[in-house]
Amino acid sequence: MNGKLVIVAGPSGSGKTTIVRHLLGVYPRLAFSISATSRQKREGEMDGEDYYFLSVEQFKDKINKGEFLEWEEVYPGTFYGTFRTEVERLWQADRDVIFDIDVKGAMNLKKYYPDQSISIFIQPPSLETLAQRLKKRKTETPEFFQQRISKAAEELTYASKFDKIIHNHNDLDATLAEADKMVGEFLELRTKS
Ligand code: 5GP
Repeated sequence: MNGKLVIVAGPSGSGKTTIVRHLLGVYPRLAFSISATSRQKREGEMDGEDYYFLSVEQFKDKINKGEFLEWEEVYPGTFYGTFRTEVERLWQADRDVIFDIDVKGAMNLKKYYPDQSISIFIQPPSLETLAQRLKKRKTETPEFFQQRISKAAEELTYASKFDKIIHNHNDLDATLAEADKMVGEFLELRTKS
């Protein structure tokens, strides 16, 4: 049986991870889709919890074996993807699945599951604010920082292709409340239909 998909995308530093974590706390039937990535593990991240960390070779091998529902080379040489088995496992457990994913991956999931998914774009106030947030987060080396800012500029052009846009400006509580309401209504649809 297929469950629902809550697809959350937006540039690095837009606040989407905070929003996804919050939604997981509010709606117990939601489960996080753990992606695979070939990027380096950050401090505090756990393999099998935040991501399944793979080498580029392992990742490519899994692409060739058709194990991904979707995958993208989000940054040059760095791959991210959703395992088919991850989503199937959660649906079998009667959960709905929430994704923190890049804009192209989000578009693909929406295309595969148009009726049972909601795609939400998290819109940051500006590229300058994004850059400040990313700097504060201190997770990136200067090279990767630049990569993320360039990617963010590209990602912003995808906003209008999403079902919904949430503006995450200066009031995080208001943003979280808006996300709660949106996702709550979407998940409700299921019990009513
Ligand atoms: P980060 O390195 O900051 O964890 O993630 C970088 C970007 O990759 C983010 O936009 C994140 O949402 C995206 N991402 C994470 N998992 C996946 C995935 O499974 N597929 C795709 N297409 N993008 C992903």
